[in-house]
Amino acid sequence: MSYTEDRSVWFAGQGLWSHVPEADWQDWTWQLKNRLTSIEHLERYMTLTPEERAGCLFAKDKLALAITPYFFNLIDRTDPHCPIRKQVIPRSDESVISSGEMLDSLGEDEHSPVPGLVHRYPDRVLFLVTDRCAAYCRYCTRSRLVSNAQDYNFHPEYEQALRYIEAHPEIRDVLLSGGDPLLLSDKKLEHLLGRLRAIKHVEFIRIGSRIPVFLPQRITPELAEIFKKHGPIWMSIHVNHPKEATQELKDACERLAFAGVPLGNQSVLLKGVNDDAEVMKALVHRLLRMRVRPYYIYQMDLITGGAHFKADVRKGIEIIRALRGHTTGYAVPQYVIDAPGGGGKVPVNPDYVEQITDDEVVFRNFEGKQFRYPLKAEPVTEKSAGVVMPAEIHL
Ligand SMILES: *Cc1c(COP(=O)(O)O)cnc(C)c1O
Ligand code: SF4
Repeated sequence: MSYTEDRSVWFAGQGLWSHVPEADWQDWTWQLKNRLTSIEHLERYMTLTPEERAGCLFAKDKLALAITPYFFNLIDRTDPHCPIRKQVIPRSDESVISSGEMLDSLGEDEHSPVPGLVHRYPDRVLFLVTDRCAAYCRYCTRSRLVSNAQDYNFHPEYEQALRYIEAHPEIRDVLLSGGDPLLLSDKKLEHLLGRLRAIKHVEFIRIGSRIPVFLPQRITPELAEIFKKHGPIWMSIHVNHPKEATQELKDACERLAFAGVPLGNQSVLLKGVNDDAEVMKALVHRLLRMRVRPYYIYQMDLITGGAHFKADVRKGIEIIRALRGHTTGYAVPQYVIDAPGGGGKVPVNPDYVEQITDDEVVFRNFEGKQFRYPLKAEPVTEKSAGVVMPAEIHL
């Protein structure tokens, strides 16, 4: 597989919805109302494979089907292997449960002191504020609760969660996630951010959202203004493939960046979507051009029915090796496995160090050349008869 693209082009326009007034297209509530949520909607525009048809029927019991018109335009409707298509159109593989898979593979429910709050790490909490998203990713880590297709009946308790954070001075970092926090109304978001900002020990507030990717229209100037007012608010967006890096996404990132929101990106390594060094390199280069710093690449979590997305960890390591040294340091994310059962994120790196002894470190650079860095410092000048300085130090 080799991936090539025209780096000077950013996908733009209304595509299949060219007949819709631009004011509607740019209205995020129009995008939500006109989401494709059924086989009938999809078949109006494309021919589904038998696997996809079966997947769509199964989706209502696993994770709802929903795709915004904006994101649907990015699908290659003639190619069943299209990397965008695989992310949002269900396939029958989702009904196959494999060994090691779990509904709650990260043990989030066990680490939840209050409904919607996950306190795994000493100084920070994950605050799940909704179970809804603009569109649904077929590999979603939280598919047990997201979209409520599995009748989880997730009900975040904002007041309880805020009280827990207030009562725990060790919490200096709050990460809003879900579901997608940016589906909340401006009013609700502003209220939440204001409440969090008022807690003295909360130093760092960030939002994890795929809305800029699924629904860039939601990043309105008014929303950006809220982030500016309650800033600094950091944001992690979620882009998996360079085809998702459109003009609209770029513009949305710009609105956020100009409101003082530092942007990072999290990708999930997905088999047949982005488990390829050329694809990832194209992605990280586009991210930097959109003012987004690649943050994490996640190994796929062990969610039920997710095996068809599971990439080889060696492939992930090879991708990092293909980036480090070969391109801008800012473009290289950290590859992590979120430890099954709730051990947290653990970095998985290529090995550059071959040996460390008391005397030296032996390591290889990005080209595979071997280098040695001495750890023992032996004096090479005589100390005895007064101090003998090397000639060039005499001033
Ligand atoms: C990922 C995650 C965080 C944030 O981790 P960082 O490495 O700081 O980005 C916090 N809490 C939970 C439960 C998480 O899964
Ligand atoms: S946007 Fe995030 S929470 Fe929502 S379906 Fe995708 S991965 Fe899951």
